[in-house]
Amino acid sequence: MEDPTTGLKQILAEIKDTSIASGRGPAKVQLTVASKTQPIERLVPLLKLGHRVFGENRVQEAQAKWPQLQLEYPDLELRMIGPLQSNKAEDAVRLFDVIETVDRISLAKALYKAMNKLKKPVRCYVEVNIGNETQKAGVAPEEAAAFISRCRDEFSLHIEGLMCIPPANCPPGPFFAKLRDIAIQNGIENLSMGMSADFGEAIRHGSTHVRIGTAVFGSRQPN
Ligand SMILES: *Cc1c(COP(=O)(O)O)cnc(C)c1O
Repeated sequence: MEDPTTGLKQILAEIKDTSIASGRGPAKVQLTVASKTQPIERLVPLLKLGHRVFGENRVQEAQAKWPQLQLEYPDLELRMIGPLQSNKAEDAVRLFDVIETVDRISLAKALYKAMNKLKKPVRCYVEVNIGNETQKAGVAPEEAAAFISRCRDEFSLHIEGLMCIPPANCPPGPFFAKLRDIAIQNGIENLSMGMSADFGEAIRHGSTHVRIGTAVFGSRQPN
């Protein structure tokens, strides 16, 4: 297996070059290392190199990997980027700094309750099903504005960004552009879009947070 620090350095350089080439400041795009399925031994070298922002897909896996590292690295930022069940909302609020996958009212309500109970406000993103795909999570683009309003007004959620995974096998540019439009229309600053295969295109369309796994760690082992 490749040393993940080599991949990290390479990706950070590519992000910086692409940001500058697309007329944006080099510091405008943040890298979330998507660390699902990676054991702690593969994460520590990245932490030692100074990287602090990681995304996980499952609450249980994250609970097994991160609490000790959170104590060792207090400036760690842990982001939930996978689908979240409402009955895991409290565990998620306890563990994560950002939840990127708010996509239904029942979850917004569960997060609101958990944040109140734990007295821990967690920054949130709304996930948008930008290609209207039946198998994908996220609110439909047409319903995003109403959903964002309800999250803010009824549940006092701090919606600081939008997240999407565009359809596979077609050019992602128009979908990234559409997510950016929805963000602008709703006064939202951050855009979590772009993965290993398409982060350059995402940055050119205004991404502020790219989520990258494979290009840092190499291919994931199939389960
Ligand atoms: C795994 C994952 C990523 C990273 O995907 P790669 O193609 O490995 O870079 C990004 N976002 C989400 C939601 C993921 O589950």
